[in-house]
Amino acid sequence: MSKYVSLYVHIPFCAAKCKYCDFLSFDGESYGIMLRYVDALCQEIRAYQPIVSDYIVRSVFIGGGTPSMLDEGLITNIMAFIRKSFKLEKDAEITIEANPGTLMHQKLIGYKAAGINRISIGLQSADDDMLKKLGRIHNFDQFVASYNSARRAGFDNINIDIMSGLPGQTIHTYVDTLSRVLDFAPEHISAYSLSVEPGTPLAEDEELLSTLPNEINDRRMYDITKQLLAAHGYYRYEFSNYAKSGYECKHNMVYWTGGEYIGLGLGSSSYFQGKRFNNIRDLNDYIEKMDAISEKFNQDISPELIYNEAVRNLRENITPIYIDSRIEEFMFLGLRMTCGVSREDFTERFNKDIYEVYGPVLNKYIGDGYMAMSNDRIYLTDKGIDVSNVILADFLLDR
Ligand code: SF4
Repeated sequence: MSKYVSLYVHIPFCAAKCKYCDFLSFDGESYGIMLRYVDALCQEIRAYQPIVSDYIVRSVFIGGGTPSMLDEGLITNIMAFIRKSFKLEKDAEITIEANPGTLMHQKLIGYKAAGINRISIGLQSADDDMLKKLGRIHNFDQFVASYNSARRAGFDNINIDIMSGLPGQTIHTYVDTLSRVLDFAPEHISAYSLSVEPGTPLAEDEELLSTLPNEINDRRMYDITKQLLAAHGYYRYEFSNYAKSGYECKHNMVYWTGGEYIGLGLGSSSYFQGKRFNNIRDLNDYIEKMDAISEKFNQDISPELIYNEAVRNLRENITPIYIDSRIEEFMFLGLRMTCGVSREDFTERFNKDIYEVYGPVLNKYIGDGYMAMSNDRIYLTDKGIDVSNVILADFLLDR
């Protein structure tokens, strides 16, 4: 029987580093390095071929970094290797993350021809001064041009990323961003609240930090997001994600429902065949190791041995997932979705009723109105989502 898997493909390049960013991405790399990286990535994709014949790929997410730094030829190449190694479902969701300022019409036409059918554009704010302060490479007009180009190129599934809780952001400027985004009527909106990560330039910038909105305004922005997006027909299906009906991100749903996914490329994470693991994070090391694998393809070596060597060279932090961790993850990730978790699904996966494992916790939170049960589903209420960190901690199992 076929099994399902999703693919995450990491492109670790950006035109410049945003002040708040702690993702694995490099700025200022030459085109030559990008070419070598894509070659290496294609070798990794190719190495998977002998072991994925039983799998069907439901979604591909090309994320970063800024994947739209890559021209259409390189994305076409990556997609061609994916299609050679993996079986893609007929209507697989294939997303590329993009930043305004890197999305030209020609590129978009090429992406579409390569099979990309969803674009996720990082706008973050419609306020040009704010974008500058954050170190973003684009202004609002460039976003408008990119968005319109994507529509003209035929993309009918577009996400826009925005952020609240930004330095100097007021309720007024945040609502202005929301309203301008709503004018475009994208199919999906991701609305995250800024988190200041240690080690980022923002974390060291006292002046910017002193202008972060206070807790009351932060809370108001969160409430306004929910109300305004609901009023415009966007369904909140996860804490920070809103979609028009039928446009929920299939790829993210795989993460939140405990599905298997393979991470390809530098530093990417996987959950595959009962294990979690990461790829190495050193760019030169990754390229060299995959160059060595590339040579093996020209020798008389079985594809299975090449796969074994590739994963031995690439993977680190390999953790087998035991039953208790699987149960916890099922709850932590599933409760991020507003539809919560299915009681029947829980029983099918773990061979026991959810109340056998979590009876006291569920009774407490359902009794206090933080969680609710409707038919087969158990979920956090609005009141529960507000204090989700505290609630989710109670779903850790004693070991
Ligand atoms: S574009 Fe995204 S990945 Fe690149 S530096 Fe900015 S936040 Fe980080």
